[in-house]
Amino acid sequence: MAEMCRSLYRRFRGSFRQRLLNGWEALVVFLAAVVIFLVGSEFDAFDRFYRYSREHEDWELDELALLVILVAVSSLILLFRRARELKHEMELREAAERRERELARHDTLTGLSNRRVLMDALQSLGGKPSRGARQMGLFLIDLDRFKPVNDLHGHGVGDRVLVEIADRLRATVPAGSIITRLGGDEFVCVVSSETEDELSSLGRKIVSALSRSIHLGAHEVKVGASIGVSRIGVDACEPEEILRTADIAMYEAKADGGGACRFFCADMDENLRARSAFEDSLRLALSEGQIVPYFQPVIDLRSNRVASFEALARWEHPERGTLAPASFLPHIEEMGLLGLLTESILRKSCEAAQEWPEHVAVSVNVAPQQFQDPWFSTGLLDILSQQNFPPQRLIIELVESAVLENSEAARAAFDQLHAAGVRIALDDFGKGYSSLSNLRSFAFDYMKLDASLVNGVGNAQGNRLIDAITYLSQALNLPITAEGVETHSNALALRLLGCDLAQGYHFGKPMDALAAAQFAVSKPIVRRTTEYPKVVERSLNVEPLPCARQPSGIEGS
Ligand code: C2E
Ligand code: CA
Ligand code: CA
Repeated sequence: MAEMCRSLYRRFRGSFRQRLLNGWEALVVFLAAVVIFLVGSEFDAFDRFYRYSREHEDWELDELALLVILVAVSSLILLFRRARELKHEMELREAAERRERELARHDTLTGLSNRRVLMDALQSLGGKPSRGARQMGLFLIDLDRFKPVNDLHGHGVGDRVLVEIADRLRATVPAGSIITRLGGDEFVCVVSSETEDELSSLGRKIVSALSRSIHLGAHEVKVGASIGVSRIGVDACEPEEILRTADIAMYEAKADGGGACRFFCADMDENLRARSAFEDSLRLALSEGQIVPYFQPVIDLRSNRVASFEALARWEHPERGTLAPASFLPHIEEMGLLGLLTESILRKSCEAAQEWPEHVAVSVNVAPQQFQDPWFSTGLLDILSQQNFPPQRLIIELVESAVLENSEAARAAFDQLHAAGVRIALDDFGKGYSSLSNLRSFAFDYMKLDASLVNGVGNAQGNRLIDAITYLSQALNLPITAEGVETHSNALALRLLGCDLAQGYHFGKPMDALAAAQFAVSKPIVRRTTEYPKVVERSLNVEPLPCARQPSGIEGS
């Protein structure tokens, strides 16, 4: 019952509020009051009422009239208050609607306009080549190296970088330009200028403004920008087409290594079609198993026997022959298919290794960003158990990378693989980015010396460098594999300098699974290095057999 009363009350209140909203009804009430007043005056109604109430004093008609007047006055006051409330509510609603319209046209993070505003503006330009005699250009800006910022420092820092980029764009492009965030790390500026040269110089200015370091408290972040420019009305007229042509030009800037601005030209369209056909065939190659591991032997320099094989991806292309990874690996990475490639190479490598003596291991290359994937190590161990392959026979080769540092996911993957018995080698040591912090933070099982250092062997400085690295590796109990060994004398020198293992054309080029199976059981392929120590020691001018030296200074500390 109480609930029914409450509901009736709510309905009554609602309809009362609704009614108050109705201006026509208020007018009718007002007019009715005026008519009653006029009719009352005409017929002398007030005097009559006065007399009548006097004559019937006991009916208390004057008190009743007073009550009616009081009710009428308080209703008027309520009416007035309600009208004020309604006005206030209307103002709030209008402000909210304005804000909603604003949000629908702006990017909430950077405050820049969004895609809708851009498309409306491009539509209204209608593909006109110029405003007056001016040239309009659309700059499509994609940040370089933004993903690692998010991966390494988290999305909070990533967002602050985007806000800073937006501020730099506002400060760089001429007033009156449209600046839009398309989404993610993609921005667009639509700029009017006198000449095409002016547009080019603006492109360079934007690249340099966005490449400056960004300081965010404790973090210093450096991104860059790749820019594609479409001349509106020249390269394209329709909004979607303008964006597409700018995108193609931007892609060219990226393909050239980023940090550049490119104007669209028709050839680029052709390149893009060719690239997309290439990517389709690559996808097919991966699914049809045309990408296979070739195996390069790694030799134990003490015994001159095969210690392991490194699996190196090759595309056995039906028309173009056997292709090296440099021609397809970057595309695979860009297409997000690195995981599939690793899985396929790992499975095929395990199969091939079943044909080798049990002490011969297989090493597989893994990109550092794969270590960021929390499921990577579990997936890898699953594959090993499906292939019935002992984890102790697998070595993962991992290049040095800033991505590994500060990454909890990488550390967890590392520990899980180690615990299962998989060994992990630090690949390409001494090439480009070299940070000893990875050596300190991760317990690698091997260190692979990059070919660029190995090629320096034979001259005094190169020898000293390798000598110092082998000294370090002994202190860390980390066997060293020298890569890219092409000559017998280099092999001897590296042995003397303390390298434990070696790999290179001198011992064997990467070969298919069948050849690797034969190689694995063949006799030692080089003469024992100890046959020539004196000659090599003299030519190298180093201490004899540094591998026998004890790193006493370090041990004693
Ligand atoms: P990497 O891991 O440093 O492999 C060694 C590269 O040096 C191989 O090139 C090998 O063929 C080449 N090489 C070996 N000995 C010599 C030599 O004596 N002289 C010279 N000049 N080169 C030698 P490749 O096979 O072209 O591979 C290039 C890179 O591609 C590899 O460098 C590795 O980083 C990457 N890669 C290859 N296969 C895979 C794969 O399955 N997955 C991933 N993520 N990366 C792979
Ligand atoms: Ca490698
Ligand atoms: Ca390497």
